[in-house]
Amino acid sequence: MPIPDSPLAAEFIASPNFGERRGVGGPSALILHYTGMPTAEGALARLLDPASEVSAHYFVFEDGRIVQLVAERDRAWHAGKSRWKGESDLNSASIGIEIVNPGHDGGAPPFPDRQIAATIALARDILSRWTILPERVLAHSDVAPHRKRDPGEAFPWARLHEGGVGHWVEPAPVSGGPLFRHEEEGPPVRALQAMLALYGYGLELSGVYDRHTRAVVTAFQRHFRRERVDGEADASTAATLKALIEGLAGSRDR
Ligand SMILES: [Zn+2]
Repeated sequence: MPIPDSPLAAEFIASPNFGERRGVGGPSALILHYTGMPTAEGALARLLDPASEVSAHYFVFEDGRIVQLVAERDRAWHAGKSRWKGESDLNSASIGIEIVNPGHDGGAPPFPDRQIAATIALARDILSRWTILPERVLAHSDVAPHRKRDPGEAFPWARLHEGGVGHWVEPAPVSGGPLFRHEEEGPPVRALQAMLALYGYGLELSGVYDRHTRAVVTAFQRHFRRERVDGEADASTAATLKALIEGLAGSRDR
């Protein structure tokens, strides 16, 4: 058995589902997932099954135990069809962590404290070995907003930030209704789309508040404005996004 890259991993259980990173020297992003299956054992078995063609670098159990499945230098198959900052091969550009949780279909239970503490420690350890900017610690739903909801709005991103992991600003208070009607068209819609794209989300600047834009706004809310996840661009969503963008320059100076 290979030796884990992280001293925090209890063991390395090699998944056959990996390849070589393409066109990059090493990972520049960290993508977090929930397993979205009823049991940890079932989820782990799937990531080890060659027929599934999916994997992740790490797997974090509810009790905080960590297992490594794919070497960090290799390309695990966790992001699928994805986009961020113009990149479309996020598997080559990232390290993926699967966090055991049954997810939305399993009632979206909270993530246990021990599991979150282990995830923070593991992420910090990974960030100490690779150059990964805070704003490139992402949800699977951030890079695949049309297909994925994980790790979901139950995931405590603010606690990760308190632990030194990821980019976060306190969300602006929720008040008032949607800024745009469905299919509304115009420069203000395009301006919102441009801000989302500037932060990293993959969307076209169509100028129309269409279903693609709603999917991206929903992903943004799951990560950064969990209080109301409805795909509607309201004042709080726009203000929180603006504050995050303004924080990018500062985060690069750290
Ligand atoms: Zn995922």
